[in-house]
Amino acid sequence: MVSLYHSQQPDEATHDETLPVYSVIAPVFNEEETLPHFYETVIHVMEQFKEDFELVLINDGSSDGTYTLMQELHAQDSRVRVVNFSRNFGHQIAISAGLDYARGQAVVIIDADLQDPPEVILELVKAWKEGAEVVYAQRTRRQGETLFKLATAAVFYRLIERITSIKIPRNTGDFRLLDRRVVNVMIEMREQHRFMRGLSAWVGFKQVVVPYVRHERFAGTTKYPFMKMLKFSLDAITSFSYVPLKLATSFGFTLAIISLIGIIIAAALRIFTGAISGQASTLILVLFLGGIQLIFLGIIGEYLGRIYDEVRKRPLYIVHDVLEQKHPNYRVPF
Ligand code: UDP
Ligand code: MG
Repeated sequence: MVSLYHSQQPDEATHDETLPVYSVIAPVFNEEETLPHFYETVIHVMEQFKEDFELVLINDGSSDGTYTLMQELHAQDSRVRVVNFSRNFGHQIAISAGLDYARGQAVVIIDADLQDPPEVILELVKAWKEGAEVVYAQRTRRQGETLFKLATAAVFYRLIERITSIKIPRNTGDFRLLDRRVVNVMIEMREQHRFMRGLSAWVGFKQVVVPYVRHERFAGTTKYPFMKMLKFSLDAITSFSYVPLKLATSFGFTLAIISLIGIIIAAALRIFTGAISGQASTLILVLFLGGIQLIFLGIIGEYLGRIYDEVRKRPLYIVHDVLEQKHPNYRVPF
């Protein structure tokens, strides 16, 4: 496949003046209570810049009035572009679609629930203007999150840090600014199980961290129940680490050595004391080994399933319709 985008240099000189400088992209899933307020806040912040901007809203298969609201926003403000998915594809995929559709030189990814305060964009942009290409917004404190969420997040980030080789800054969500160069690289990566934070750390470039305090959700509830969080972590681990697979090897070796020692002891007992008994211990050992084997089969299955998803080459998402004003020099890369 010929790359559409690598040849396009994002330098000021070749930048189409009619395209916006900033894109703010937000994945939105059942946020009808928050969306109007989110829109107001983002517009208020972005209007402080002298340059043009666009707000790309991805409707991730919302079942409430979110899409109707988006239609209204688009009708009253042409800077709002709406990508309407055919169903719910998930947070990470919605962000990916946002990157595909964004046209700006600097692209800000932000949650639509106002947990990522839009005012921080001012600082992200400042760092970008000073030459940073990936600007992370790092939470210094989280307000109004459950202890369970805080604890699982802490375990998750530590685990990722230990078993993967990429450096994902602690306590960063998806709230960040990406330079056009980085976006062009990221949209070339079409893997199905996407852990966007990992990907944007993996690509390199000049990365900078800006601290902020994470707010409570403005309204509604989290769209990440435990099972979704588990899937999210599995995607993160399997896309950046083979450690779980390698565990099988070291476990196998350890058990083999232990059983070798056991065999020697059993043989010695048989020779010197005459008999060894113990059906129970045999049974326990067999069950134990069976359990271990099934666990590792399961781990292999996790990877295998993901490989299967890749080879099928289905599109990452399906767009039902897009609300935007057509632009002569722009077409979506995928
Ligand atoms: N979201 C989405 N699709 C989903 C789940 C969530 O687009 O399947 C959006 C949601 O509307 C919000 C953002 O992703 O803008 C983050 O979700 P949420 O606030 O539920 O996650 P949390 O902050 O609890 O991790
Ligand atoms: Mg949230």
